[in-house]
Amino acid sequence: MKAATLAGIGRKIEITEKAKPVIGPDEVLIEETVTGICYRDLLTQQGFFPRAKFPITPGHEITGTVVEVGKDVTEFSIGQRVSSLIYEPCGQCEFCRSGRENLCRSKKTFGELLDGSYAQFIKANKRSLITVPDGVSQEGAAIASCVTGMLYHALVVEGNLTSGKTVLITGAGGGIGSHAVQLAKALGGHVIAETSSQWKAERISALGAEMIVSAAEDFDKSIKKAYPDGVDITLECVGKWTFSKSLRALGNGGRMVVVGNVVPDPVDLPLGLIILKGNSIVGSISSTRSDVSRVLEMEKEGKIKPVIDRKVRLENVEEAYTEIREKKNFGRILLDLTE
Ligand SMILES: [Zn+2]
Ligand SMILES: [Zn+2]
Repeated sequence: MKAATLAGIGRKIEITEKAKPVIGPDEVLIEETVTGICYRDLLTQQGFFPRAKFPITPGHEITGTVVEVGKDVTEFSIGQRVSSLIYEPCGQCEFCRSGRENLCRSKKTFGELLDGSYAQFIKANKRSLITVPDGVSQEGAAIASCVTGMLYHALVVEGNLTSGKTVLITGAGGGIGSHAVQLAKALGGHVIAETSSQWKAERISALGAEMIVSAAEDFDKSIKKAYPDGVDITLECVGKWTFSKSLRALGNGGRMVVVGNVVPDPVDLPLGLIILKGNSIVGSISSTRSDVSRVLEMEKEGKIKPVIDRKVRLENVEEAYTEIREKKNFGRILLDLTE
């Protein structure tokens, strides 16, 4: 099979022929035709995750058709479409047993500890898998765990988003932010979007944002002019550049859900501000199988659809990385894994 290899930190990704993975008793073999490129893949290459093992097949945005099942797998069968979590949960810890497998201490992430999705075939444990309903696109299924499912977890499970609430999304022009705008709108939210790329403003509005602001201005003030009570939820996708203003944009009882640290530097946190307004700041990590099922259903019902910049061949992955680094894409860039 055609597959990518990252030999070590700072190395270029190489495309080679590899043997198909050999499955264990509780694993399935998945044939993939498409996978997502994630900012996390770029960070892995830069050495951001000290636990990553090399050489490794990068990538963790997994979907495809089951072509082989292990002897202990009864939940999935050959020919079925599946999506996978971005990690393999242990299945035994308190978090795994209570449906909060995203917090599993022993989870193993694809593309870091397990060979990942930049390949025509991938093996995955049944504990990672979710059935893809008919009517869901391959593209939507590929990004259901790391993008839309992750955002569902952040907005609904951690952010308590319900219909009618106001939501500020920072970094709204990125692969994550653009989907966040669409998802928050589909869930009934009034969406305010922050982007530093003005050329993306019109497209973000088309996804459902009612107001567009920029990190170059004091956007907390312009938001408070338009929404005097402040926002109910801030989805912080950027980090240091926007944190202080998005905290100030929150209203009483507001919640900031932090998913992004494109700028991982420490931030200023004026304690008085969160005390006086009774604000909460929570981190949100990845998605659970329940989150992924939910967003797959939402796509099936026509409520969301993937925002895809374009597909590139596996051989051109490094060029796509450069575009992502330079923020030239609107929506997700996917890898075409067919010959
Ligand atoms: Zn990802
Ligand atoms: Zn666990």
